Amino acid sequence: MNKILLPSVLFFLLLLLSCGDSAVSMMDPDDGNTLSAPVDDPGHVEICHDNMNSLASACAMFYGMENRYPEELSELGTSGIYENWDDPCPGCGELYQYSTNVIGDTYSIICPMLTDPNHGYIIDGIRSWPPGSGGGIEGCRSNMMSLGSGCAMFYGSENRYPIHLKELGITGVMENWDLVCPDCGELYSYYSDPAGTTYVIQCPLPWDPGHGFIDDGVISW
Ligand SMILES: [Zn+2]
Ligand SMILES: [Zn+2]
Repeated sequence: MNKILLPSVLFFLLLLLSCGDSAVSMMDPDDGNTLSAPVDDPGHVEICHDNMNSLASACAMFYGMENRYPEELSELGTSGIYENWDDPCPGCGELYQYSTNVIGDTYSIICPMLTDPNHGYIIDGIRSWPPGSGGGIEGCRSNMMSLGSGCAMFYGSENRYPIHLKELGITGVMENWDLVCPDCGELYSYYSDPAGTTYVIQCPLPWDPGHGFIDDGVISW
């Protein structure tokens, strides 16, 4: 028994000692591996995706007004559509790479980080990252619930649901009726019948399953 126990006790002691060593070195700031490449902050990915989503929805709004995508991102600023068009990628501090074609019916927004992989890209509204990877599902669903209660308030005063979500803004029921899905940056799909007796609010994500929908106040998730 002792023959087996003694080596394992020694081993255990050695383990304790080595643990103690590494604990000390971890606490010593001068011993940190400061020369290695900085690890990209995971929070940067989310901020960068949010930035690109905002740029993409601003491009979509620009298209709605001008019937073409902007030639340069700065046009989003000069047209007054999106003042923060020059928000940089939080990982590298550079402006987003943007390109379009001559007639402006296509665009791409690319994260400027030189690392491979960088934070991804958006081409014509399609994201390079999977839905929900930015943690946007909770934000999306709370957006839809806000819109749903906006619709209920609208019904309370108008005795019908809005025909378009825009009506929530026009009537002053909900100023931020133009909330977008945090993962795709698009306005919510909304359906109502001509009499406004029913409605559906749906996340615009092109993936299946997306973030769900609200049908006459009944949530799908
Ligand atoms: Zn980035
Ligand atoms: Zn969504």
